[in-house]
Amino acid sequence: MPDCLFCKIVNKEIPSDIVYEDDQVLAFRDIEPQSPVHILVIPKEHFASILHIQSENFELLGHIFQVCNQLAHEFDIDESGFRIVNNCKEDGGQTVNHLHFHLLGGRKLAWPPG
Ligand code: 5GP
Ligand code: ZN
Repeated sequence: MPDCLFCKIVNKEIPSDIVYEDDQVLAFRDIEPQSPVHILVIPKEHFASILHIQSENFELLGHIFQVCNQLAHEFDIDESGFRIVNNCKEDGGQTVNHLHFHLLGGRKLAWPPG
């Protein structure tokens, strides 16, 4: 998607601090971290939001969660705990319209969200 910020990050047109990459998934540090560990895990393929995921993408979605699991171990938040967040559309607080999951950890996170 030409005007998509995260597609540009996937295509390395915009630099990012990449912590994991394979043929389907990219994970990089959030530019404005909200916790000591704040990683964005995204599919390389453009989906505007979780609403655009269909049954043929279930394997990809499972893979994204597997990558989150692996990163939680790698960044040492598997014992202390963490949160995986997907913001969807305006009320959900989505600001980048390319599907992404926030992996947040390294501090005690408040609940409920604001
Ligand atoms: P959303 O609000 O859509 O759920 O999350 C978008 C996230 O992308 C925000 O946490 C924001 O800090 C992050 N972000 C926005 N622009 C950039 C960028 O250019 N590089 C990186 N690494 N993160 C970004
Ligand atoms: Zn995109």
